[in-house]
Amino acid sequence: MWREYNPNRKRRKLTRDIEEGQKPMDSSLVRKIEKAKDYAEQPDRVKITQYKAQFRGGNNDHSITYETGRWDCDCSYFSGRGTCNHTMAMDLMLNRMAL
Ligand SMILES: [Zn+2]
Repeated sequence: MWREYNPNRKRRKLTRDIEEGQKPMDSSLVRKIEKAKDYAEQPDRVKITQYKAQFRGGNNDHSITYETGRWDCDCSYFSGRGTCNHTMAMDLMLNRMAL
């Protein structure tokens, strides 16, 4: 959802910054922040192609990677079966983004 440009909102912020003795934020940076918030609501725009994480498991930490559509984990269960609770958990955590 795109927010309509409201010049009064910007003017109020500028006035407040000046009153508080702060340097007013650059207007192009304000627009970038607004756009970033809009993008953050649209996770379908992002396709993760590579992922590397340290996973704190119940007993040990595990290194997890995701590359070219495949997960990998250094735990013994994964090496025997090609999946594990760590990579499944990562799938669930990242399911809002297209992998
Ligand atoms: Zn694992």
